[in-house]
Amino acid sequence: MEFFEILFNLDVKTMIGVLFWGNLALAFLILRYYLNHRLDRDKILMQGFGIAKILQAVAWILLFLRGNIHDIISVYFGNVLLFVGFYLDSLVILKMNKKTEKIWMILQSVLLGVSIISFILLEILIGTGNVRIAMASLSVFCIFVIPNVLNTIDKSSSRFQKFIGIINLLFVLLLLIRAITSLLNKEVNLHTNNILQSVTFILLILLMFVNGIGFLLIMYERSYERLRESSNLDPLTQINNRRYFMAKAEAYYHRAVGEQTPLSFLFIDIDFFKKVNDTYGHLFGDEVLKTVAKTIYENVRPLDLCCRFGGEEFLILAHETNGEQAVIMGNRIREIIQNLVFEENRQFKCTVSVGIYSGLANSEQNIQNFIDNADQALYKAKKSGRNCVVSF
Ligand code: GH3
Ligand code: MG
Ligand code: MG
Repeated sequence: MEFFEILFNLDVKTMIGVLFWGNLALAFLILRYYLNHRLDRDKILMQGFGIAKILQAVAWILLFLRGNIHDIISVYFGNVLLFVGFYLDSLVILKMNKKTEKIWMILQSVLLGVSIISFILLEILIGTGNVRIAMASLSVFCIFVIPNVLNTIDKSSSRFQKFIGIINLLFVLLLLIRAITSLLNKEVNLHTNNILQSVTFILLILLMFVNGIGFLLIMYERSYERLRESSNLDPLTQINNRRYFMAKAEAYYHRAVGEQTPLSFLFIDIDFFKKVNDTYGHLFGDEVLKTVAKTIYENVRPLDLCCRFGGEEFLILAHETNGEQAVIMGNRIREIIQNLVFEENRQFKCTVSVGIYSGLANSEQNIQNFIDNADQALYKAKKSGRNCVVSF
């Protein structure tokens, strides 16, 4: 028991100093990270979090100087700045979600307003240390609870993000308990050294560490995830590239062998594309490629795979699709492409030829057979005059 008392009974003023230096160090780290990643999609988050840390550092130094500077500056400015700093933290947590509804942002602002007004009113009306500490802890709880709950239940949050959310919730819940107990203890003020005070500040220090380091790791995780996703995409058309397609198709094929379901591969090649480049220029050629890719992507079922296989060739893997169904699918896509209108050149018409190979997936064949046969069918479609579908 004595051991725990020694471990938890730390000097409060020193801990406020730690909160000042810690937030300053985090602000510095985030600023340094931001300078390297300011083109990143997450730059708003980094700015918000950096400013929050600076505000919190200033708030803690004002609270640290209680007794050395005027109480109005220390108590009022210090606590209000602290609330604003935590509020900014909470907005950053909210913004991490893919689609945060505006209502939550508004609610956070209302909570901040209520916290500041209640704090000032209670300070004027009662003004005792224990009420002040209770009010401040309660405000921190209110400001953090909604964003962390949303972050923890959001499907798009990574596991690590959820973990940070749960730890945050745990800390603010302990702070709330602490707020209630401080109401029962009238003797306490900011610099009082006792075990309950000490635990509050240990929690605040832990919250600072977990949030700060958690934030930087989440930023890193998000940019890594984007990099990983983009390595699967073709840079020009933004649909899957061949490497990703082949890896996925392999898994599809194995599944189809087990289930004895038919598969179809559809090879799509733009007709006379070289002429398009030669006549209208490469830039227009690129636009045509992007539009055709988008059209193909939008016209396959969500579970089918498609990719830019190379140059002006696209490949589709249609699962549970027999030859007849694949021809219908190929003709539908061919007709949609034929009817496309290009804003840059409204007279221009683009056509494609489609080669299809369908069959039951079995262990005697492999993906390469399917693709080679679809390529042969495409060759035949080109020979037969283009803008048509040939199926083997
Ligand atoms: P066919 O009807 O027989 O398919 O004739 P084609 O001209 O479409 O076929 P070919 O294979 O001779 O030419 C393909 C052209 O696609 C050649 C190449 O310059 C062009 N191409 C490949 N990749 C790109 C690209 O990323 N952008 C542009 N603008 N053109 C590309
Ligand atoms: Mg072509
Ligand atoms: Mg080609």
